[in-house]
Amino acid sequence: MTVAFIGLGNMGGPMSARLVRAGHDVRGFDVAPAARQALADAGGTAARDLDAALRDAATVVLMLPSSDVVEAIIHSGRFAPGTVVVDMSSSEPLRTRALASSLADQGVTLVDAPVSGGVARARTGELTIMTGGEPADLERIAPILACLGHATRAGAVGSGHAVKALNNLLSATHLLVTCEAMLAGERFGLDPATMLEIFNGSSGRSGSTENKWPNFILPQTYDSGFGLRLMLKDMRIATALADQVGAPDPLGHAATDLWARAAESLAETADHTEIVNWLRKEIP
Ligand code: NAD
Repeated sequence: MTVAFIGLGNMGGPMSARLVRAGHDVRGFDVAPAARQALADAGGTAARDLDAALRDAATVVLMLPSSDVVEAIIHSGRFAPGTVVVDMSSSEPLRTRALASSLADQGVTLVDAPVSGGVARARTGELTIMTGGEPADLERIAPILACLGHATRAGAVGSGHAVKALNNLLSATHLLVTCEAMLAGERFGLDPATMLEIFNGSSGRSGSTENKWPNFILPQTYDSGFGLRLMLKDMRIATALADQVGAPDPLGHAATDLWARAAESLAETADHTEIVNWLRKEIP
């Protein structure tokens, strides 16, 4: 299958490389030359511009930072009628719905298929993929998704993006409160590794105690590959969604406000696991 892959960053890089290894003809484009070179090194075709990547591709995968960038790409590229565009970015569900309906007028189908699992599971093809769209449209891209992970249909178009944002609100809030518990335990004199071992056998465990703390925070590498600002974007999508549907979300707003303060004080490129250093320094 000829696949155009737009956005070859931390996630799109390893995902596009997997499609190449599975035998697909992958034509990738990214504004960053190093990202294009990495695809060429992996055996794909690095396109010189967006339209060169889109030419002859019946399937277009987007792995971009946000809905703003997704819309810019959709409005500037030439998409042939019959094309299926798969937005695997963590985008805004209502903007995805609006975009899908305007593309449908041009005979182009948009489905959403955001992911969870981070860079490690992008490399191994074990992502959790949450899809939104008509079952027949999702069936057409099933061979592509199967190379990347396990897909579950969440509902109509935009539903994947909704559940993804809600997942990340959970993930970020778990991480914040795990950092608070770990710092309190540390100041009491507890050993961090022992605390994690006990939490992981108890009801306080989460992705933060099982993965983020032991793999990126305790070793002080802070290299999960997921930016702090990307997480903030997702938290804002989730709290806006809760507000739009009239669901109560006081904790979500509190966590998002704290996260926004951290984003203002940490470096532009900070990994989301660096939130612990902000808490340590900025919250007395
Ligand atoms: P990233 O910043 O590493 O990659 C995004 C890529 O898009 C960059 O290489 C950038 O150069 C490129 N880009 C930006 N504007 C472009 C344009 N106009 N045309 C072409 N390329 C353009 O981000 P990432 O970590 O790969 O995340 C991508 C998406 O996946 C985000 O929506 C993020 O929220 C989501 N996500 C990330 C992770 C993770 O662990 N990193 C996990 C799940 C979901």
